Amino acid sequence: MHKHPAPPAGACGERPDADVVIIGAGTGGLSTAHALKRRGVDVRILDRASEVATSWRRRHPQLCLNTHRSLSNLAGLPFPKSAGAFPARDTVIRYLEDYARFVGVPIEHGVEVQRIDQAAQGWQLQTSAGRATAAHVVVATGRECVAFVPDWPGLDSFTGVVRHSADFGDLSQYRDKRVLVVGAGNSGTDVLNHLVRAGTRSLRVSVRHGPAIAPSRMLGFPMQRTAPLLEMMPAPLADRALKDMGRLAFGDLARLGLPQHPQGGATRLRKGGITPAVDDGFIAALKAGRIHIHPAVERFDGADVITVDGRRVEADIVIAATGYRTGLEPMLGHLNVLDGKGEPLANGAMAIDHCRGLWFIGMRASLSGFFRAARKDGQAIARLIHADLAGREFAGPSPGFAQAG
Ligand SMILES: Cc1cc2nc3c(=O)[nH]c(=O)nc-3n(C[C@H](O)[C@H](O)[C@H](O)COP(=O)(O)OP(=O)(O)OC[C@H]3O[C@@H](n4cnc5c(N)ncnc54)[C@H](O)[C@@H]3O)c2cc1C
Repeated sequence: MHKHPAPPAGACGERPDADVVIIGAGTGGLSTAHALKRRGVDVRILDRASEVATSWRRRHPQLCLNTHRSLSNLAGLPFPKSAGAFPARDTVIRYLEDYARFVGVPIEHGVEVQRIDQAAQGWQLQTSAGRATAAHVVVATGRECVAFVPDWPGLDSFTGVVRHSADFGDLSQYRDKRVLVVGAGNSGTDVLNHLVRAGTRSLRVSVRHGPAIAPSRMLGFPMQRTAPLLEMMPAPLADRALKDMGRLAFGDLARLGLPQHPQGGATRLRKGGITPAVDDGFIAALKAGRIHIHPAVERFDGADVITVDGRRVEADIVIAATGYRTGLEPMLGHLNVLDGKGEPLANGAMAIDHCRGLWFIGMRASLSGFFRAARKDGQAIARLIHADLAGREFAGPSPGFAQAG
């Protein structure tokens, strides 16, 4: 991998249909399109969904950003002050709709990209609407594309409901239910923050380790605003700062049954892509004895969930806050650009030597959030693509798909 512009993918052969195809019209795709358009680069955006902000529309109605408004806007269009410190899901949807209009690049909705292959000059895409070619392809399909639920033994026998945190839905359905949340990472903590207000019959959480967790606010100050500063620190220093922040806000969480992970929060993020969680009620409920902690889930059996200490936990609803996958294998698995978890080997300004002209955005977690990273990475990718195209003989797209025969 290198961090400089990729040279032209080939000096001869057929001219591609487009200079740049962006796959995905979410935060990452729109940010890149905006930066490319400002540099005068023609771009096509393909998205399999029928409208923008599809990932945010699917998320539960109680959700708010846990990144501060000031760190969550894309280039050229701030959130209005009326959006509040942590904009709500519907505000984010409206913002992304506005941003798509602001960018002004038509989005080809309902077009799914199924596979990408190297072509004589750049890339060939197989899509649900036929074939397309492009000198550069930006994969902006989202890191949280596919909800991941472990293949727990006995899952089929479970008489309760198991749903991923992606399908958390409306809070009212949890009233009077025995709820077990598996995982207390970013998503697990988010659903717990809401469930403590849902009037559940019981609320339990199964964890392997306590999360690195920061308070949403301290003395009224939104703590996420410190993220850019933490990001500039070496990981051990940022680990220390996060730990101290947690201790100051919550005391000793190990005494409440949340043992610390051997790695600090910043190190886990940099090495494993696991974002620190944000508390907004979970820890207070835990201290008040309203949430019970259990160790990891081992298997399911009829009406019970069995944890690794052999205990049986009865639950009506199990929420698997067990993460996501990119789902990129069918599209890219043959190109040797994904790691064992299906995550791209590169992101943002990084290029993969054997796949020049193939870019990824939105595939790495950061303390200051995906929105801020998308803004920065979109600009970096656009700069590199523009420099590459400027060195080529051909320029300009000739739109339209070649229909697959
Ligand atoms: C519960 C939750 C809360 C979050 N809160 C925050 C937060 O507070 N702050 C923050 O910064 N981030 C947050 N995130 C991360 C969040 O996902 C990103 O901010 C952002 O929505 C990701 O944008 P994206 O463009 O990378 O992906 P997406 O928004 O998922 O967009 C990807 C697009 O690609 C399209 N697509 C996918 N596959 C194909 C294909 N094969 N062909 C064509 N189109 C395709 C999809 O239809 C979609 O429109 C949160 C995530 C979750 C799960």
